[in-house]
Amino acid sequence: MKIVVDEERCEANGVCVRAAPEAFRLDDDDRLHLLVTEVPSELRDKVERAVRDCPRGALSLVER
Ligand code: SF4
Repeated sequence: MKIVVDEERCEANGVCVRAAPEAFRLDDDDRLHLLVTEVPSELRDKVERAVRDCPRGALSLVER
């Protein structure tokens, strides 16, 4: 699974970073960065929570 971010929707509120800090990072300019390309199985639950909890619906998971 791969994470896709809709940058038009992301408002850099950090909800996903708190849910899965191993997968998401906000830089000093409030730009969201993905720390993983392929989501490892041990991060799957956290990343799915981040996708679910994003208040802007900016995250999705796709099969690659
Ligand atoms: S939770 Fe959503 S809106 Fe917030 S930083 Fe992450 S992707 Fe952006």
